[in-house]
Amino acid sequence: MKYADRVARLEGLIEISRSLNSTLSLRPLLNMIVVAARELTQTEACSILLVDRKSGQLYFEAATNLPGIHSIVVPMKDSVAGWVVRTGEPIVVPDVSNDPRFYRKADEQSAFTTRSILAIPLNTRNKVIGVLEAINKMGEEGFTEEDTELMSVLADQAAVAVQNALLFQQSDLISEIVHEMRTPLSAIVSYAELMQRPDVTVSQCQQFAGIVMREAERLGGLASNFLELARLESGRAHLAQDPIDLSTVIRMAVNVLIPQADAKQIRLAVDAPVTLPFVVGDAQRLHQVMLNLLGNAIKYCHAGDSVTVTVMEGDGCLTVSVADTGPGIPAKALPRIFDRFYRVASTENEELGAGLGLTITRQIIEAHKGEITVSSEEGQGTTFTLTLPVE
Ligand code: ADP
Repeated sequence: MKYADRVARLEGLIEISRSLNSTLSLRPLLNMIVVAARELTQTEACSILLVDRKSGQLYFEAATNLPGIHSIVVPMKDSVAGWVVRTGEPIVVPDVSNDPRFYRKADEQSAFTTRSILAIPLNTRNKVIGVLEAINKMGEEGFTEEDTELMSVLADQAAVAVQNALLFQQSDLISEIVHEMRTPLSAIVSYAELMQRPDVTVSQCQQFAGIVMREAERLGGLASNFLELARLESGRAHLAQDPIDLSTVIRMAVNVLIPQADAKQIRLAVDAPVTLPFVVGDAQRLHQVMLNLLGNAIKYCHAGDSVTVTVMEGDGCLTVSVADTGPGIPAKALPRIFDRFYRVASTENEELGAGLGLTITRQIIEAHKGEITVSSEEGQGTTFTLTLPVE
């Protein structure tokens, strides 16, 4: 490319990044990005796919020249965009007909013919939030290294702007949390008022103080869970990148919970190879994951039940399952089990909880490029299975 053309393209990029930072509203922002990407790459169409925070699915959120593509869900495993999200790397596919990763159904559903793709990850600090794609390079040349370079600069700017817009949308989370905080707060106020009445006895006073303490603790727990979730969802959480021996993390979590399990007469067992390959990540957060899963299993199981942690190695990853013989989760609740504030109606009144534990757990696992799934049968038990890539 001629020097003058290159300068013009770079100038265009600076101009674009200025306008990207000037909007917090997601849809106009995404449209701006795809229009800019198309101009920059001289292609027939451009699109943005985002990873849905709740379901973990990848879907088309905005596009130029691709009517009908909006909201089409793309599989994470068998698609070019999915590959980019999983690896965090850009890719050029010069001829999609020769690439098994290409997801043909998107063309069928949008009545468009894709020939070539340049796909770039939208990277935030520790997470890929989506993919920017340029489709069908015009002219004979095909995508060049310069296209990849310029699109990567645009994608980095775009990721920051999209992240800010998503954060702005998080005001939803703020209203949910305020709502959740009202219940313990009003209990604290009511019981504190009761304690001030002249006719209240010393033993009643002690009982009320106990309730105030418990509700205050609940508020404290909510506040820290809320902070952690907000950090993880926005990609602002700083995750350590240390080599970790997962069996040590598991054994430490088990040791913390043995007294609770004993008190409820629940058997806790670990079945893990003595030596395991390291996973890379944040030991404290993975400890939290194990505490959440084991803590839930103990919380929802009854006397005589057992909880078993099994670790297996293979296929470039470690698989950890936490299986219990407890009450199970109704089939219709399973798809929502990782949603924030979701609790199964039948267990809601039995045990304390805010319904944030599994949401946080999934966020942590995904920030480690892993996956978590659940299988359960009512009356039989529940198994949470997580996979983490090894170093
Ligand atoms: P919390 O335990 O605070 O309610 P979680 O997000 O950890 O929130 O769990 C969400 C819901 O999933 C729980 O309310 C409970 O109904 C259900 N659940 C989680 N783990 C288990 C389990 N091992 N057995 C049965 N139900 C479970």
